[in-house]
Amino acid sequence: DIEGHTLSTSASVGIALAPADGERFEELMQKADTAMYASKARARGTFTFFNPTMDDAAKARHDLANRLRLALRRDEFRLLYQPQVFADSRRIFGAEALLRWDPIDGPSIPPSAFIPIAEDTGLIVPIGEWVIRQGCEQVRRYADAGVDCRVALNVSGVQLQRSDIVETLRRCCRDAGVSPSLLQVELTETVLMDDAIVSQEVIQGIKSLGATVAIDDFGTGYSSLAYLKQFRVDKLKIDGMFVRSLDSDQDAQAVVTAIITLAQALRLDITAEGVETAEQLVMLRALGCGDVQGFLISRPMPGHEVAAYLDRTNMSMA
Ligand code: C2E
Ligand code: MG
Ligand code: MG
Repeated sequence: DIEGHTLSTSASVGIALAPADGERFEELMQKADTAMYASKARARGTFTFFNPTMDDAAKARHDLANRLRLALRRDEFRLLYQPQVFADSRRIFGAEALLRWDPIDGPSIPPSAFIPIAEDTGLIVPIGEWVIRQGCEQVRRYADAGVDCRVALNVSGVQLQRSDIVETLRRCCRDAGVSPSLLQVELTETVLMDDAIVSQEVIQGIKSLGATVAIDDFGTGYSSLAYLKQFRVDKLKIDGMFVRSLDSDQDAQAVVTAIITLAQALRLDITAEGVETAEQLVMLRALGCGDVQGFLISRPMPGHEVAAYLDRTNMSMA
C-alpha cells in the first residue's frame, strides 16, 4: 500500500537450461533474458523456456533497435494525417497524426513493427517528442491557413511513465504558438490500467492545459467501467476490429451498440475507427455514432493535403 493506493506487481519468467542452452553464466543469463521477453510478449505472469529460434528473433529486434536509434538523426520519420469526420455530414473536424518510418537503407517499416521496440528501448520518448513537436507545427500551419482542424496525437504508456508529457505538450504548443485546445491526446486503455495513478495525473494535466483526451482502441483491452468514471476523458474510439465485422457479425454489432450507448450515457464523444465501407457508415450512423475515421473517408495523407481536402469537402457542403 502506497499513499492509500494498492499497487500490485507481476513477474514474467524466462528459463534457460545448462548445458543445452549454454555452460557459462553470461550465456545462460542472456538466453534466459531472451526467453523472459518472449514471456512478456505472450502475456503477463507467465514463464517460457528458451529455444534457439528466439535468438533469431532477438537478433532481428536488436538490429531494428540499432537502426531506430539513428532514425531521428537521419530524419527518417514523417507524420501522415488521417481525417476524422462527423458521421452525418462527413465534414472534417480533425485529423489523427500517424507516424511513418522510411529508413534510408531499407523498406518502410510499419508502426506495429517499430513502436513496441521503441517502447522497450525507451526511444519512444525522443520519438514521441518529435511527434508532438511536428503535430503542433502542423496545427500552426493549419491556423495560418485559416483551416479549422484539430490534431490527434498517439501517446504511448512509456511516454507517460518516463517523461513529463504534460510539460512536453505545454512547451511544444508554446513554441509553435498554438492553443492546446487544438490537440487531442490518444491513449490506449491498457495504458490506463497499467498505471492508474500516473494516468490519472497525466490526464488531469493534459486537460488542465486545455487539450482533450481520447481512449484509443476501446473494447480491445480491459474496458473497465471503473476507470471510465475515474478518468475524465473526452472521447472513446471504437476499435476498427469491431467496425470491420459490423455487417457480418451480430456480436460485433452488440459490442458497438453497447460502446455507443455507454459513451452517450457518460456524455463522451465517440469515433469509430477503420470504417471501410458505406454499409458500415450507414450502420454506425443509425446506431448514433458521432464521428468516423477510416479508408472510406480517406487514407492517411501528408498534412498539407488534409487542408486542401478539407477545403474541398467542407466548402462543397457549406
Ligand atoms: P491507432 O492509433 O489505432 O491508429 C489507427 C490505425 O488504423 C492506423 O494504422 C491507420 O492507418 C489504420 N487505419 C485507418 N483507417 C483504416 C481502415 O479503414 N482500415 C484499416 N484496415 N486500417 C485503418 P497505423 O498508421 O499502421 O498505426 C498503427 C498503430 O501504431 C496506431 O493505432 C497507434 O497505436 C500506433 N502509432 C501510430 N503512430 C504513432 C505515434 O506517433 N506514437 C505512438 N506512440 N503510436 C503510434
Ligand atoms: Mg490512435
Ligand atoms: Mg485505434
